[in-house]
Amino acid sequence: MSVVTRFAPSPTGRLHMGHAFSAILAHDFARERGGRFLLRIEDIDGTRSRPEHVAAIVADLRWLGLTWDGEIVFQSARLDVYAAALARLREMRLLYRCYCTRAEIAEALSAPHGAVAVYPGTCRHVAERDAPHCWRLDMAAAMARCGDLSWTDHGETVANAALAQGDIVLARKDAPASYHLAVTVDDAAQGVTDVVRGRDLFEATHVHRVLQALLGLPVPRWWHHALLVGEDGARLAKRHGAPTLAVMREAGVDGREVAAKLRAGVIG
Ligand code: GLU
Repeated sequence: MSVVTRFAPSPTGRLHMGHAFSAILAHDFARERGGRFLLRIEDIDGTRSRPEHVAAIVADLRWLGLTWDGEIVFQSARLDVYAAALARLREMRLLYRCYCTRAEIAEALSAPHGAVAVYPGTCRHVAERDAPHCWRLDMAAAMARCGDLSWTDHGETVANAALAQGDIVLARKDAPASYHLAVTVDDAAQGVTDVVRGRDLFEATHVHRVLQALLGLPVPRWWHHALLVGEDGARLAKRHGAPTLAVMREAGVDGREVAAKLRAGVIG
């Protein structure tokens, strides 16, 4: 089977070196295997996504010397596909409406005893009413329906730990699909065989694996990579004042040289 990878940035800000590293790894993974590398813009968050960030992402990737195959896919154009997936899960009776406000959830989570950082399931059994709500996945019920939910990271088997994340949100009051749902549906729709992305998304993969099982989607291999850190050990993504790729590009820095240094491990 031929390899397909992707880079899937959210256009909510400018890309930085950490993004460049991730994009290069995913790009090279495919190219070294004669495979395809796709670019997907994860712009479902209409309030935070900006067209000028999309333009900068495209310019940054070209500046780094990366090429992608086919058209860029925009998640904002695929909301009906996510709605259909959500409807399927609802028909399976695995979703419930959650009416809790942020403040109510924060209060529930700060309970003095046994406080856990997951939603406590307050709305799981409340009667449905006509009020603003998000949709949550009944994680225990979902996992009970599935068989083996393990997955592989760098070829090693990982036991599924989605249960510990509780009843995650799959659609918000103001957004028709969550990151988890959109990314899972899209990776399958685009035939992604190998998900190369940062370790910060390792925990999310447990959830994606559950959604794949529920929706009958193919299971890719995962290759979570270490996050790029600066000399001070801080994540470059977060380090105060780290220049964005756009700033470097506009200052006349050679992007291909930056890419070569990242490949050689000279940066980070
Ligand atoms: N859009 C996500 C982000 O920018 C990444 C999605 C993914 O690689 O699965 O953090």
